[in-house]
Amino acid sequence: MNALETTGLGKRYRRAWALRDCSLAVPAGKVVALVGPNGAGKTTLLHAAMGLLTPTRGEARVLGEAPRTSRTLARVAFVAQDKPLYDGFRVSELLRMGRALNPRWDDGVARCRLAELRIPLDRRAGKLSGGQQAQIALTLALAKRPDLLLLDEPLANLDPLARSEIMGHLMSTVAERDITVVLSTHVIADLAQTCDWLILLSGGRVQVSGDVEELLGAHQMLTGPVEAADALAASTPVVSRRVVGRQVHLLVRASRPIPDPRWSARPVAMEDLVLAYLREPDAAALPRPTLATLAPEGNR
Ligand code: ATP
Repeated sequence: MNALETTGLGKRYRRAWALRDCSLAVPAGKVVALVGPNGAGKTTLLHAAMGLLTPTRGEARVLGEAPRTSRTLARVAFVAQDKPLYDGFRVSELLRMGRALNPRWDDGVARCRLAELRIPLDRRAGKLSGGQQAQIALTLALAKRPDLLLLDEPLANLDPLARSEIMGHLMSTVAERDITVVLSTHVIADLAQTCDWLILLSGGRVQVSGDVEELLGAHQMLTGPVEAADALAASTPVVSRRVVGRQVHLLVRASRPIPDPRWSARPVAMEDLVLAYLREPDAAALPRPTLATLAPEGNR
């Protein structure tokens, strides 16, 4: 089953599309990095998956169902980018609310985690630091025992130690409970070790969506003479090129060795891959979705 699936999903605000022609399918059990420049549509995609907005076109499905049914609301947790908590509530009141609203709530897990983090239960959420608030929001989301956890930039307010601790905590939860986690982020380095699915959005479109191992295996970083680059590009898709003196570094989409001794190849790291695609927003690692039923863009 797919944990998250979108078909031709689009959201338009007045004249501008925040997200368009978004078709992707993420299998259950993955840790997904949702990456893209500012304004790429990451929050819009997460809000559509939570049913917090009505798509202009297409649809999103979570855990095989439409968002916001009573079944999906119980099984999906979402931590919003801004102000994920009610400022005026004490931490103990947030726990009480979680318990009252969520049928699968695990109070023990939440209290244990808050104690580990030394977060006092009698403080009002709004009086805690941004990092502590992020930690509480994540704790509440996990206490809901979701099958799908959607996190909008959960690491943004955290110091490096807290970032690594949160990722470790998420990973052990994923291993224990086999949940799917989708994290939007700008901090690729934090995710390189942990995520196994990558969604890269650019200008509201899906540029890449796929299994990280497969994506890395389908690309190579080549170094060779500048004058050989055009001939290579004629036969092999080049995602990005960077010229340094008389040498050129190419990130190419090719899984087989290049049979030309002028090129030396090295495997691609996740950060190389993400940066290369971010630099070249028109490069797509996968064929663009073709949705025959959609009208031409000018008519939308
Ligand atoms: P960031 O990394 O900066 O958080 P993002 O990838 O999450 O960005 P979105 O917040 O999804 O991007 O925004 C995508 C586009 O939609 C942006 O151009 C944004 O200005 C626009 N947008 C988002 N929400 C609204 C809204 N409520 N009204 C009008 N435009 C909006």
